[in-house]
Amino acid sequence: MLSFYSTRNHDLDAGFEEALLSGLAPDGGLYLPRRLPELHRSLWRERRQLADIGYEIMLGWNEPKLSPADVRAISSSALNFPVPLVPIGSNRPSQTNLFVLELFHGPTHSFKDVGARTMARLVSHFSEASHTELTVLVATSGDTGSAVADGFSGLTGVRVVLLYPKGQVSALQERQLIVSRPGVVALAVEGTFDDCQRMVKMAFSEPSFEKANLTSANSINIGRLLPQSFYYVHAVSQLDMEDVIIVVPSGNLGNLTAGMLAQRAGLPVNRFVAAHNANAFFPDYLASGEDQFRESIRTLSNAMDVGAPSNFERLASLFSHSQLNSLIRSTSVSDAETAAAIKRTYLNHGYVACPHTAVGLEAAERYRAESETQKPIVVLATAHPAKFPETVRSAIGIQPEAPKDLAELHDRPTRAETVSPHVAALTPYIFA
Ligand SMILES: *Cc1c(COP(=O)(O)O)cnc(C)c1O
Repeated sequence: MLSFYSTRNHDLDAGFEEALLSGLAPDGGLYLPRRLPELHRSLWRERRQLADIGYEIMLGWNEPKLSPADVRAISSSALNFPVPLVPIGSNRPSQTNLFVLELFHGPTHSFKDVGARTMARLVSHFSEASHTELTVLVATSGDTGSAVADGFSGLTGVRVVLLYPKGQVSALQERQLIVSRPGVVALAVEGTFDDCQRMVKMAFSEPSFEKANLTSANSINIGRLLPQSFYYVHAVSQLDMEDVIIVVPSGNLGNLTAGMLAQRAGLPVNRFVAAHNANAFFPDYLASGEDQFRESIRTLSNAMDVGAPSNFERLASLFSHSQLNSLIRSTSVSDAETAAAIKRTYLNHGYVACPHTAVGLEAAERYRAESETQKPIVVLATAHPAKFPETVRSAIGIQPEAPKDLAELHDRPTRAETVSPHVAALTPYIFA
């Protein structure tokens, strides 16, 4: 059985269902697993599908309310898309030592599908088992909202109310948020992303909403974090080599934290590289020990525009500053360098990367030069390049080819309601 403590109180003890459904610990801290079951070598020694790796790991959690059949159903329906490890620079894996792990073949084409889809099925399972109807309330400015909306859509026992700042997300992002999905209501808030987040926060402490069984699904939820460790195992298994270096394009540091939890549980990772855009809180922290949060800066890799990474609290609770420095390298990449990395990767290798992945590719190159290592480097490819057509086109002169479902998004019916930026405006949708 999994047991969780809070980053602010190590004596706190919560079970998996409680941590999953409450999101934040009662003291405002973040949940961390007290002890994760050891990841066994056989998980990466034999080549397996992501769903099979997820199944084995979740089975090891030994949760009494999750039978092996439940775990099988959850993993096979959540992790139903390929996560290929693609060699860069050669068609023959043995002739290169740079790879991207393409995490963007899920329904909304970012890596967030992995965590969101698995979490959604876990939440639905527990709410069905206890005969309650839950409402997931989520504020989003980008990939999270569509991954969460899509992940929960059509599942029993849960509905989703999604808030996004009207007119402040890209046209494609908005389409992805508002395509009509069963069980999902999209609300275009006449305000900023901060207004959306404030409304969600207030809704949780609003007495008249108590009966609505509200729950959150943001990136601090342990139910999204733990499944993100599955693809780190999958990367090592496909590479068939241990001692790998993994580059993680980072914003809120959830992806990185998931990898480090996998490493702590026994996955043989040589080193992590946290690749940031101009929002350089984390690389600066590693260099100086100074942990002052900042305002975020807008960049080309907008899903990583985070000045105050929420999962930093987890990393700082798990590791000292000097431990973090021995496990992780981190670097900050400017927009000009990001665009140059997209162009270089395309010209040299014919590979089209999204701006987030390009931040990772630039960081990989820097790490290779600085460390002179010959070890394999895997860059996590976090989004499909076709989600960022303008940035990619201005870097390489051509439009990235869109997967069929993204291209067809324009033909699908949409549904969104416009609301004022006040918590009371949520009432009709929360009790719909
Ligand atoms: C969310 C996101 C990131 C950042 O991941 P974190 O877990 O917040 O560090 C990177 N790339 C893309 C495409 C994302 O959507």
